[in-house]
Amino acid sequence: MEAVIRQIRDKDPEQHEFHQAVDEVVESVKPVLERNFEYRQQSVLQRITEPERVIMFRVPWMDDEGQVQVNRGFRVEMNSALGPYKGGLRFHASVNLGIIKFLAFEQVFKNSLTTLAMGGGKGGSDFDPKGKSDNEMMRFCQSFMAELFRHIGPNTDVPAGDIGVGAREIGYLFGMYKKLANEFTGVLTGKSLAWGGSLIRPEATGYGSVYFAAEMLATKRETLEGKQCLVSGSGNVAQFTTEKILDLGGKVLTLSDSSGHIFDEEGIDAEKLEFVKEVKNIRRGRISDYLEKYPGAVYTPVNPTMDHNPIWSHRADCAFPSATQNEINAQDALNLVAGGLHLVCEGANMPTTPEAVDVFHQEGLLFAPGKAANAGGVAVSGLEMAQNSMRLSWPRKEVDDRLKQIMKSIHSTCLDAADEYGRTGNYVAGANIAGFVKVVNAMLDQGLV
Ligand code: NDP
Repeated sequence: MEAVIRQIRDKDPEQHEFHQAVDEVVESVKPVLERNFEYRQQSVLQRITEPERVIMFRVPWMDDEGQVQVNRGFRVEMNSALGPYKGGLRFHASVNLGIIKFLAFEQVFKNSLTTLAMGGGKGGSDFDPKGKSDNEMMRFCQSFMAELFRHIGPNTDVPAGDIGVGAREIGYLFGMYKKLANEFTGVLTGKSLAWGGSLIRPEATGYGSVYFAAEMLATKRETLEGKQCLVSGSGNVAQFTTEKILDLGGKVLTLSDSSGHIFDEEGIDAEKLEFVKEVKNIRRGRISDYLEKYPGAVYTPVNPTMDHNPIWSHRADCAFPSATQNEINAQDALNLVAGGLHLVCEGANMPTTPEAVDVFHQEGLLFAPGKAANAGGVAVSGLEMAQNSMRLSWPRKEVDDRLKQIMKSIHSTCLDAADEYGRTGNYVAGANIAGFVKVVNAMLDQGLV
């Protein structure tokens, strides 16, 4: 196992996030490999860490000044043992191949946990949507799809949204796919309701994350009622995490974006959340705009020279990191523990560094890894694919009930797998083991391909 990890590092030394994701999985599945000779003999670890296909392409587009710009596009088709590749597209300046590979790798295990027939993939671009006009967004999406369309399809690879890719972008991407492929199919999820989307898809990741947190609390005979919660981010996941926490009687104190965070001691209630949605989804403004309407809140800008992120220095019961990777470091974890935290539920992908996860485990906190806690988004994407295939649209309650059921089942799957390998209560080990075993068994059934 050490040799495999070394090989991965030597091959692509700059892919730090991918190494981090692989290290965590390998640490968890060590006892599984030790127990199973066939897994070792069939080199499953080498096979599962190597993408089936990596597509990297030029995305030229013209800005509003008539200047030609060039970005880089990616799609990593990681593993198709359980179904068509499935996973979002991220448009953010920080995107590179290592980040897309880490996200695609995580997606394989996450999709396996949902019990739906989906392989894992991820894609995106280093294009920065901040400050771009609608027309620039459309031209970029069309150019991106002009290449991507030849690699995807409803039974091959079904992308969705992620950071920087929401309903508007999915619309432009879908329009171009439809024109080029000359077919109207469920090739993307997160579509608008009027043309093939599913009810609850926008809410699914945030709602699912809170359902998962409620399941964890129930193991301690607790609920979210009256709990003080810190939420980071202010995009899709953060907004619907906040909405569901409020539904279940919790209080949300913070939200953030890449420029800073707001702290509202009175709590961000439903009316304030509506304002945040308007600022972020319609005006495409900054979280600091919150103070325009609610001047009683405090805004703290990001300070890159600090060794910690001040959003995690507030006292609270629960934390829902829902912005981006590695946003909680060991110092943040210590600050959270000192503030009386009981539970961390990862809405984002890998928002907690390995050192911070160690702190939470040592302190005996309830800790849910993103690949389990945020799987509700892709699960409802899977339900969107099912509805598209049947040309049907299920009612809101039906999709929400299925989402709840899936989150409940992921929760118990994690606990059972952790128990089986002597890691009782460790959701990280449980998620990795359960996700891994299902994918690897399918790979072995399908032979050496
Ligand atoms: P959005 O683009 O809707 O929102 C992202 C939020 O995170 C914004 O507030 C953004 O701030 C902030 N953010 C992004 N990058 C950084 C950064 N480097 N530092 C600090 N803040 C940052 O994305 P989503 O809400 O969809 O995604 C959030 C997380 O959830 C990601 O990790 C994503 O992979 C994960 N996820 C999303 C799913 C989904 O269904 N959407 C499904 C499963 C996981 P700003 O506006 O300044 O960029």
